[in-house]
Amino acid sequence: MVIDLRSDTVTKPCSNMLQAMMDAKVGDDVFGEDESINKLQNYTANLFGKEAALFCPSGTMTNQIAIKVHTQPGNELLCDVNAHIYNYEGGGISFNSGVQAKLLNGTEGKLNPSLIDENINGDFDWLTKTSLVCLENTVNRAGGSIYNLNEVEPIAKLCNEKKLKLHLDGARLFNALVETKESTLEVGKCFDSISICLSKGLGAPVGSVLIGDKDFIYKAKKIRKVFGGGMRQAGFLAEAGLFALKNNVSRLVEDHKKAKEIGACLQNKNYVNEVLNVYTNIVIFKLNPNIITGEMFEQKLAKQNIKIAAFGKNTIRMVTHLDYTNQMHDKVLTILNSSL
Ligand SMILES: *Cc1c(COP(=O)(O)O)cnc(C)c1O
Repeated sequence: MVIDLRSDTVTKPCSNMLQAMMDAKVGDDVFGEDESINKLQNYTANLFGKEAALFCPSGTMTNQIAIKVHTQPGNELLCDVNAHIYNYEGGGISFNSGVQAKLLNGTEGKLNPSLIDENINGDFDWLTKTSLVCLENTVNRAGGSIYNLNEVEPIAKLCNEKKLKLHLDGARLFNALVETKESTLEVGKCFDSISICLSKGLGAPVGSVLIGDKDFIYKAKKIRKVFGGGMRQAGFLAEAGLFALKNNVSRLVEDHKKAKEIGACLQNKNYVNEVLNVYTNIVIFKLNPNIITGEMFEQKLAKQNIKIAAFGKNTIRMVTHLDYTNQMHDKVLTILNSSL
């Protein structure tokens, strides 16, 4: 039994999901003729109370398309220093859009209105025009921390007043919403565009959806083509995504429970210096390198068939997911509780 805690992207489609994929009604999506893709796009647009949506191969693509549509070359966007769009998208902000990122030091990866306000550039010839704010929910690099609506709404209000666009990298938005019990419709009201991933905690093999108003999605579709993301009979994948949205959202709380148990277990271990707060399905902790280094820890667990991800020097990330069973969880806790 291999236990893979490197990411919630390692899941494989269950037989019911595969059956839903087999039943897809596909067509050439570049001509807009794939019924299953159209169904997914309508479903997700309605879910967030928006006019339109666009199915894309990855969350990197949905984020990068949004940045491209919302900005002009030479502009600046504001995001937290932990943001996925900055750290893990291959420099795409500058590569694709000719835009620079101003990195803000938020709290557990989260921005607030005053931090944003004091970083919006004034209208001078020599300053870079600020045109976009990007939030991430949950914040991957900050240990899966959550924005509540009462934190997002004042940011949305500020962006509206200052005529800035507001994009949400919601790769793990549903992990946040099952905890806050807030509605997708309320989230939809706050943002100009939202990206959700179907292949993270939700368990679909491929795909992300970008959601916004008609004009935004019209432009986004052109950019998707330029980025090489125009797909043909991809309805098989869209059906997997629909299945994931309909069946795998509410169960995310089980992943969170397991992650919190791992966090609690690590809390009082001599080989651990610090565990970040566990809010959802991500556990990030710093080892005490005098006792065990990141490399040694990784090797020790690998010997027990447990895969984990190094997240910087002597820092480890473990992510719980759909395919991480109770039995696996018991084994992991036993090993973490042993003297290693
Ligand atoms: C995974 C992830 C993405 C998208 O990544 P892809 O691997 O391109 O699908 C975007 N944002 C966050 C926060 C993520 O964790």
